[in-house]
Amino acid sequence: MRTRFAPSPTGYLHLGHAHAALFAFAQGGRFVLRIEDIDPLRCRPHFTDAILQDLEWLGLRWEEPVRHQSQHMDEYQSALDILRKLGVLYPCFCTRSQIQGEIARSVHAPHGPAQIGPDGAHYPGTCRVLSPLERDHRLEQGQAYCLRLDVAKAAKIVGAVTWTDLGLGTQTATPEIFGDVVLARKDTPASYHLAVVVDDALQTIDLVTRGQDLRDATHIHRLLQALLDLPTPLYRHHGLILGPDGRRLAKRDQSQTLGSLRRQGFTPQQVKEMADFS
Ligand code: GLU
Repeated sequence: MRTRFAPSPTGYLHLGHAHAALFAFAQGGRFVLRIEDIDPLRCRPHFTDAILQDLEWLGLRWEEPVRHQSQHMDEYQSALDILRKLGVLYPCFCTRSQIQGEIARSVHAPHGPAQIGPDGAHYPGTCRVLSPLERDHRLEQGQAYCLRLDVAKAAKIVGAVTWTDLGLGTQTATPEIFGDVVLARKDTPASYHLAVVVDDALQTIDLVTRGQDLRDATHIHRLLQALLDLPTPLYRHHGLILGPDGRRLAKRDQSQTLGSLRRQGFTPQQVKEMADFS
Protein backbone atom coordinates (compact mmCIF):
# COMPACT_ATOMS: atom_id res chain seq x y z
CA MET A 1 0.00 0.00 0.00
CA ARG A 2 1.20 3.50 -0.77
CA THR A 3 0.07 6.77 0.85
CA ARG A 4 1.19 10.34 0.28
CA PHE A 5 1.44 13.73 1.95
CA ALA A 6 0.86 16.59 -0.49
CA PRO A 7 1.51 20.04 0.99
CA SER A 8 1.39 23.30 -0.97
CA PRO A 9 4.51 25.45 -0.42
CA THR A 10 2.56 28.65 0.21
CA GLY A 11 3.75 28.95 3.82
CA TYR A 12 5.44 27.02 6.63
CA LEU A 13 4.02 23.74 7.94
CA HIS A 14 1.99 24.00 11.15
CA LEU A 15 0.55 21.44 13.55
CA GLY A 16 -2.34 20.72 11.21
CA HIS A 17 0.09 19.69 8.48
CA ALA A 18 2.06 17.61 10.97
CA HIS A 19 -1.15 15.76 11.81
CA ALA A 20 -1.91 15.17 8.10
CA ALA A 21 1.63 13.94 7.35
CA LEU A 22 1.76 11.66 10.41
CA PHE A 23 -1.73 10.31 9.61
CA ALA A 24 -0.63 9.30 6.10
CA PHE A 25 2.64 7.83 7.39
CA ALA A 26 0.88 5.92 10.18
CA GLN A 27 -1.21 3.92 7.69
CA GLY A 28 1.89 1.79 7.15
CA GLY A 29 3.14 0.70 3.76
CA ARG A 30 5.08 2.96 1.44
CA PHE A 31 4.99 6.71 1.84
CA VAL A 32 5.72 9.39 -0.76
CA LEU A 33 5.68 13.17 -0.86
CA ARG A 34 4.25 15.56 -3.38
CA ILE A 35 4.87 19.27 -3.44
CA GLU A 36 1.73 20.93 -4.81
CA ASP A 37 3.50 23.94 -6.29
CA ILE A 38 1.40 24.43 -9.36
CA ASP A 39 0.38 27.99 -8.59
CA PRO A 40 3.44 30.18 -9.35
CA LEU A 41 1.78 33.24 -7.82
CA ARG A 42 1.47 31.71 -4.34
CA CYS A 43 4.23 29.07 -4.06
CA ARG A 44 7.84 29.81 -3.02
CA PRO A 45 10.90 27.51 -3.22
CA HIS A 46 12.07 28.44 0.29
CA PHE A 47 8.80 27.06 1.69
CA THR A 48 9.48 23.77 -0.14
CA ASP A 49 12.94 23.55 1.47
CA ALA A 50 11.47 24.29 4.91
CA ILE A 51 8.72 21.66 4.44
CA LEU A 52 11.25 18.91 3.69
CA GLN A 53 13.40 19.96 6.66
CA ASP A 54 10.44 20.04 9.04
CA LEU A 55 9.20 16.60 7.97
CA GLU A 56 12.64 15.10 8.41
CA TRP A 57 12.97 16.72 11.84
CA LEU A 58 9.62 15.18 12.77
CA GLY A 59 11.09 11.77 11.97
CA LEU A 60 9.26 11.09 8.73
CA ARG A 61 11.01 9.23 5.93
CA TRP A 62 9.72 8.96 2.38
CA GLU A 63 10.57 7.28 -0.88
CA GLU A 64 12.36 9.35 -3.49
CA PRO A 65 11.73 11.04 -5.80
CA VAL A 66 9.58 13.77 -4.32
CA ARG A 67 7.11 14.81 -6.98
CA HIS A 68 6.99 18.56 -7.73
CA GLN A 69 3.85 19.44 -9.65
CA SER A 70 5.52 22.40 -11.36
CA GLN A 71 7.77 19.94 -13.23
CA HIS A 72 4.90 17.95 -14.72
CA MET A 73 2.89 20.46 -16.73
CA ASP A 74 2.92 18.26 -19.84
CA GLU A 75 1.19 15.44 -17.94
CA TYR A 76 -1.65 17.76 -16.89
CA GLN A 77 -1.81 19.01 -20.47
CA SER A 78 -2.23 15.44 -21.77
CA ALA A 79 -5.10 14.92 -19.32
CA LEU A 80 -6.74 18.14 -20.55
CA ASP A 81 -6.33 16.92 -24.14
CA ILE A 82 -8.23 13.72 -23.30
CA LEU A 83 -11.03 15.72 -21.68
CA ARG A 84 -11.15 18.08 -24.63
CA LYS A 85 -11.53 15.15 -27.03
CA LEU A 86 -14.38 13.83 -24.89
CA GLY A 87 -16.07 17.22 -25.38
CA VAL A 88 -16.45 17.92 -21.66
CA LEU A 89 -14.36 21.12 -21.50
CA TYR A 90 -15.39 24.61 -22.52
CA PRO A 91 -13.62 27.96 -22.40
CA CYS A 92 -15.13 30.40 -19.91
CA PHE A 93 -14.48 34.09 -20.54
CA CYS A 94 -16.35 35.42 -17.49
CA THR A 95 -14.51 37.65 -15.03
CA ARG A 96 -15.02 37.13 -11.31
CA SER A 97 -17.23 40.21 -11.08
CA GLN A 98 -19.37 39.12 -14.04
CA ILE A 99 -19.96 35.79 -12.32
CA GLN A 100 -20.85 37.49 -9.05
CA GLY A 101 -23.25 39.84 -10.86
CA GLU A 102 -24.89 36.91 -12.60
CA ILE A 103 -25.28 35.02 -9.31
CA ALA A 104 -26.76 38.10 -7.59
CA ARG A 105 -29.28 38.53 -10.43
CA SER A 106 -30.18 34.83 -10.35
CA VAL A 107 -32.10 35.41 -7.09
CA HIS A 108 -34.92 36.83 -9.22
CA ALA A 109 -34.45 34.51 -12.21
CA PRO A 110 -37.33 32.23 -13.28
CA HIS A 111 -35.13 29.12 -12.73
CA GLY A 112 -34.38 30.26 -9.18
CA PRO A 113 -31.20 31.33 -7.36
CA ALA A 114 -27.79 29.79 -8.10
CA GLN A 115 -27.19 26.52 -6.27
CA ILE A 116 -24.65 26.54 -3.47
CA GLY A 117 -21.99 23.81 -3.41
CA PRO A 118 -18.98 22.96 -1.22
CA ASP A 119 -16.97 25.74 -2.92
CA GLY A 120 -19.78 28.33 -2.83
CA ALA A 121 -22.33 29.35 -5.46
CA HIS A 122 -22.21 27.37 -8.68
CA TYR A 123 -20.91 28.99 -11.84
CA PRO A 124 -24.12 30.04 -13.63
CA GLY A 125 -23.09 28.35 -16.89
CA THR A 126 -23.04 31.52 -19.02
CA CYS A 127 -20.19 30.34 -21.30
CA ARG A 128 -21.41 26.75 -21.49
CA VAL A 129 -24.19 27.88 -23.78
CA LEU A 130 -22.18 30.21 -26.05
CA SER A 131 -22.58 29.40 -29.72
CA PRO A 132 -19.50 27.88 -31.42
CA LEU A 133 -19.32 31.04 -33.55
CA GLU A 134 -19.27 33.33 -30.51
CA ARG A 135 -16.72 31.11 -28.80
CA ASP A 136 -14.38 31.14 -31.81
CA HIS A 137 -14.79 34.88 -32.18
CA ARG A 138 -13.75 35.52 -28.56
CA LEU A 139 -10.81 33.12 -28.83
CA GLU A 140 -9.65 34.86 -32.01
CA GLN A 141 -9.90 38.22 -30.24
CA GLY A 142 -7.52 36.83 -27.62
CA GLN A 143 -9.96 37.21 -24.69
CA ALA A 144 -8.65 35.66 -21.47
CA TYR A 145 -10.38 32.42 -20.50
CA CYS A 146 -10.21 29.45 -18.16
CA LEU A 147 -11.30 25.88 -18.96
CA ARG A 148 -14.33 24.52 -17.14
CA LEU A 149 -15.64 20.99 -16.89
CA ASP A 150 -19.20 20.51 -18.13
CA VAL A 151 -20.08 18.39 -15.10
CA ALA A 152 -23.55 17.30 -16.23
CA LYS A 153 -22.26 16.14 -19.62
CA ALA A 154 -19.26 14.41 -18.03
CA ALA A 155 -21.43 12.63 -15.45
CA LYS A 156 -23.70 11.40 -18.23
CA ILE A 157 -20.74 9.92 -20.12
CA VAL A 158 -19.39 7.96 -17.13
CA GLY A 159 -22.72 6.94 -15.54
CA ALA A 160 -22.90 6.06 -11.84
CA VAL A 161 -19.49 5.80 -10.16
CA THR A 162 -18.59 4.96 -6.57
CA TRP A 163 -15.57 4.88 -4.29
CA THR A 164 -14.75 3.51 -0.88
CA ASP A 165 -14.27 5.89 2.04
CA LEU A 166 -12.78 3.76 4.82
CA GLY A 167 -14.69 5.84 7.38
CA LEU A 168 -18.07 6.03 5.63
CA GLY A 169 -18.22 2.99 3.35
CA THR A 170 -19.24 2.99 -0.32
CA GLN A 171 -19.95 6.46 -1.65
CA THR A 172 -21.72 7.35 -4.89
CA ALA A 173 -20.27 10.35 -6.73
CA THR A 174 -22.56 13.36 -7.08
CA PRO A 175 -20.11 15.77 -8.75
CA GLU A 176 -22.96 18.09 -9.74
CA ILE A 177 -22.84 19.48 -6.17
CA PHE A 178 -19.86 21.59 -7.36
CA GLY A 179 -21.26 22.92 -10.64
CA ASP A 180 -18.85 23.41 -13.56
CA VAL A 181 -15.44 23.57 -11.84
CA VAL A 182 -12.38 25.25 -13.35
CA LEU A 183 -9.73 22.75 -14.49
CA ALA A 184 -7.13 25.13 -15.92
CA ARG A 185 -6.27 28.83 -15.98
CA LYS A 186 -3.70 30.82 -17.91
CA ASP A 187 -1.50 31.39 -14.83
CA THR A 188 -2.25 27.96 -13.27
CA PRO A 189 -2.38 25.42 -16.12
CA ALA A 190 -3.94 22.69 -13.94
CA SER A 191 -6.34 23.19 -11.06
CA TYR A 192 -6.05 21.33 -7.75
CA HIS A 193 -8.77 18.90 -8.86
CA LEU A 194 -7.06 17.94 -12.11
CA ALA A 195 -3.50 17.77 -10.78
CA VAL A 196 -4.40 15.69 -7.73
CA VAL A 197 -6.15 13.02 -9.81
CA VAL A 198 -3.31 12.77 -12.35
CA ASP A 199 -0.66 12.73 -9.61
CA ASP A 200 -2.33 10.14 -7.38
CA ALA A 201 -2.47 7.82 -10.40
CA LEU A 202 1.11 8.49 -11.52
CA GLN A 203 2.42 8.07 -7.98
CA THR A 204 0.36 4.83 -7.73
CA ILE A 205 -1.30 5.92 -4.50
CA ASP A 206 -3.75 3.30 -3.26
CA LEU A 207 -4.90 5.08 -0.13
CA VAL A 208 -5.51 8.84 -0.21
CA THR A 209 -5.58 10.35 3.26
CA ARG A 210 -6.50 13.99 3.80
CA GLY A 211 -8.41 16.35 6.04
CA GLN A 212 -12.17 16.05 6.23
CA ASP A 213 -12.43 19.55 4.77
CA LEU A 214 -11.46 17.95 1.43
CA ARG A 215 -13.90 15.04 1.66
CA ASP A 216 -16.39 16.50 -0.83
CA ALA A 217 -13.66 17.08 -3.43
CA THR A 218 -13.65 13.32 -4.01
CA HIS A 219 -16.96 13.66 -5.90
CA ILE A 220 -15.13 15.62 -8.61
CA HIS A 221 -11.98 13.51 -8.36
CA ARG A 222 -13.91 10.31 -8.91
CA LEU A 223 -15.58 11.79 -11.99
CA LEU A 224 -12.20 12.84 -13.41
CA GLN A 225 -10.72 9.40 -12.72
CA ALA A 226 -13.57 7.79 -14.66
CA LEU A 227 -13.19 10.22 -17.60
CA LEU A 228 -9.41 9.77 -17.72
CA ASP A 229 -9.59 6.01 -17.15
CA LEU A 230 -7.44 6.19 -14.01
CA PRO A 231 -7.59 3.81 -11.04
CA THR A 232 -9.54 4.81 -7.93
CA PRO A 233 -7.67 4.71 -4.63
CA LEU A 234 -9.28 4.14 -1.25
CA TYR A 235 -9.94 7.29 0.81
CA ARG A 236 -9.65 8.02 4.52
CA HIS A 237 -10.20 11.41 6.15
CA HIS A 238 -8.87 12.83 9.38
CA GLY A 239 -10.16 15.53 11.68
CA LEU A 240 -8.62 19.00 11.70
CA ILE A 241 -6.36 20.39 14.42
CA LEU A 242 -7.84 23.51 15.96
CA GLY A 243 -5.88 26.54 17.15
CA PRO A 244 -6.14 28.20 20.59
CA ASP A 245 -9.10 30.25 19.26
CA GLY A 246 -11.03 27.07 18.38
CA ARG A 247 -10.68 27.70 14.65
CA ARG A 248 -8.77 25.38 12.34
CA LEU A 249 -5.11 26.25 12.04
CA ALA A 250 -4.13 28.35 9.06
CA LYS A 251 -1.02 29.92 7.64
CA ARG A 252 -1.74 33.02 9.76
CA ASP A 253 -1.03 31.08 13.00
CA GLN A 254 2.71 31.70 12.94
CA SER A 255 3.25 30.56 16.55
CA GLN A 256 2.13 27.04 15.64
CA THR A 257 4.52 26.45 12.75
CA LEU A 258 6.84 23.48 13.19
CA GLY A 259 9.89 25.72 12.73
CA SER A 260 8.73 28.08 15.44
CA LEU A 261 7.97 25.23 17.85
CA ARG A 262 11.40 23.75 17.16
CA ARG A 263 13.06 27.11 17.87
CA GLN A 264 11.06 27.37 21.11
CA GLY A 265 12.78 24.14 22.20
CA PHE A 266 10.00 21.58 21.70
CA THR A 267 11.20 18.09 20.74
CA PRO A 268 9.79 16.14 17.77
CA GLN A 269 8.03 13.86 20.28
CA GLN A 270 6.34 16.81 22.01
CA VAL A 271 5.29 18.28 18.68
CA LYS A 272 3.80 14.93 17.65
CA GLU A 273 1.74 14.96 20.84
CA MET A 274 0.61 18.53 20.15
CA ALA A 275 -0.42 17.31 16.69
CA ASP A 276 -2.51 14.56 18.31
CA PHE A 277 0.02 11.86 17.47
CA SER A 278 1.96 10.32 20.31
N1 GLU B 1 -2.29 20.33 -1.21
C1 GLU B 1 -3.46 20.15 -0.42
C2 GLU B 1 -3.33 20.94 0.87
O1 GLU B 1 -2.24 21.37 1.21
C3 GLU B 1 -3.73 18.70 -0.08
C4 GLU B 1 -4.24 17.96 -1.24
C5 GLU B 1 -4.75 16.55 -1.00
O2 GLU B 1 -4.35 15.92 -0.01
O3 GLU B 1 -5.53 16.10 -1.82
O4 GLU B 1 -4.32 21.14 1.52
